[in-house]
Amino acid sequence: MVKILLQAGHAAWTSRSGYSYPDGGGAPGEAQWAWDLAHLMAARLAASDVESLIMGQWYGYELPEPPEAADPADLFIALHYDAAVYSPPTGCFADRWANETETDATDSFIRIWSDSYPLATGISLHNERRNARTRLYYAYSAVKIAPAVLLEHGCGSPVPVGIYPPGGDSKYLHDHIDVVASVNVAAILSYLIEHGLLPAEEAEDMAKIAELESKVTELVSTNSALSDQVGALREEIGKRNADVTRLTDALATAERRTRPRYVEVTTEDDIVHPFVREVPV
Ligand SMILES: [Zn+2]
Repeated sequence: MVKILLQAGHAAWTSRSGYSYPDGGGAPGEAQWAWDLAHLMAARLAASDVESLIMGQWYGYELPEPPEAADPADLFIALHYDAAVYSPPTGCFADRWANETETDATDSFIRIWSDSYPLATGISLHNERRNARTRLYYAYSAVKIAPAVLLEHGCGSPVPVGIYPPGGDSKYLHDHIDVVASVNVAAILSYLIEHGLLPAEEAEDMAKIAELESKVTELVSTNSALSDQVGALREEIGKRNADVTRLTDALATAERRTRPRYVEVTTEDDIVHPFVREVPV
């Protein structure tokens, strides 16, 4: 069975060794987001008969490397997003270890992901942002038998970080984490097919399902945006109806004020004709 190692960047977790790793910083909200993303991906991969193993972080000199990282696997993927330290404050990229021996594998996965993720999410590709932290990422050396890549999914911080503004991709990444999971899984399945690790037919079906799922997610989110608009319009109509009632009342009051205060009760008829009527016929 094919196996994928997923690392939720910065997330606290407990290894099968029994060691509990603490939360490892990262951009605001990143550890929880990466943890959620890893679990969404694992569920989708399981539907394609692809086993996955989720790890958190182990950054820091005093922290032991988890045994999971050394498991034989077909791919190791570290999941991250950035604070908005770039100009423009949006964009994604993928990188791999500078000392990677399986560069054919890593580079083919990076190519597949780079061709699909930016297109599906609208988050533009900025591979020129690869840097020492992503090229010499601490986890690579612990991964013994798997090509290892790192994905920066965009500038996802929902709040400013120091002098940097909130990430331009934050709303998308947090609102559409399902789409991110589907696109990542579709890229993994394509990679596995390309390398003869997964039967093409079944995997293609699964990729189609993943694509449909992402479309459904988009529709659900569009519908919820539309229903928000309907709610706002209803509220507006309510306010306007209240205005109409208020103005109608004011108009009625004004009309009452313009009428004579005392109505004449005696008219010429009242004075003259009673006598006339009293005349016997
Ligand atoms: Zn990170």
